[in-house]
Amino acid sequence: METIQERLEPRGASETGFLARGEKLTEVIARDDEALRILSYTHVEIAALLEHLTSRVAISGTFPYRTQNGKQYNIKVATYRGATQRGMQECPWGDDVDIDTSPTNADIDVLTIEGERVLRIAGLLPHLVREHHFFEGSTSYRTSPEEIVAVLGEERVLGSIAKVKESLPQLKSVW
Ligand SMILES: [Zn+2]
Repeated sequence: METIQERLEPRGASETGFLARGEKLTEVIARDDEALRILSYTHVEIAALLEHLTSRVAISGTFPYRTQNGKQYNIKVATYRGATQRGMQECPWGDDVDIDTSPTNADIDVLTIEGERVLRIAGLLPHLVREHHFFEGSTSYRTSPEEIVAVLGEERVLGSIAKVKESLPQLKSVW
């Protein structure tokens, strides 16, 4: 039987997995656990930051969004119906996903008022963070905890975002 590590790895040469080739799930989770410890956030709190936004994503298109601490952004939703770029939308752990808070067929861009993209959230991400403590490995779908806190949350410990960036490996996230 296939392990969760195997299920998260890329299959063929062209398919994107949830981990890069040779990357270990346990190491990715340990890196992000340490990031959350430095940031003084729990996984549930990070998931809640994401879900406050993703629960409003009922439609495609662009709409204004205000975070709970008053930051103003525009949200642009790209929705993929049917075939997806990754070809796999359901949770790799095989459990049920609440699509009201994890719209698995959507990619969500967070833009500044000036139009600069500061974050991209894969629809499945809130579920992965809340249930599996997983922000994805070094793939284009990864969104790191420090990026999420910087854009949607607030720095609870002065200098903690910089400390995470300096002291922990930066897993690639290129959209
Ligand atoms: Zn799951």
